[in-house]
Amino acid sequence: MNNDCIFCKIVAGEIPCKKAYEDDEVLAFYDIAPQAPVHILIIPKVYTEDITLGNAALAGRCLAVASKLAGELGLADGYRIVTNKGAHAGQTVAHLHFHLLGGRQLGLSMG
Ligand code: AMP
Repeated sequence: MNNDCIFCKIVAGEIPCKKAYEDDEVLAFYDIAPQAPVHILIIPKVYTEDITLGNAALAGRCLAVASKLAGELGLADGYRIVTNKGAHAGQTVAHLHFHLLGGRQLGLSMG
């Protein structure tokens, strides 16, 4: 756990969240400032900043959870999974996370 990390505090239960999914390795919870009708963050429970060859399975598990949630939440018309990395991408929380966005027509812009 990184004591300076807000997402680690959510994993530890020190900050509340609205959970969408949880297992031993992955937590998914609703974004506090949703950008779409469905906006869920999927994170590895362990503090991780990057997707590496060493943790690729964990990152893949997060993506599989996103896909599972999209199915359960009825996003049959489509959805987007986004990961921001670094200042140029506007990342605000260093703990690796995937945004699952859906429930409306999303813009085509990639930046
Ligand atoms: P990013 O800008 O890609 O680093 O995304 C960080 C996301 O975390 C933003 O969409 C925030 O709205 C979201 N966020 C920050 N604090 C919380 C919180 N306590 N609970 C839920 N989502 C949060």
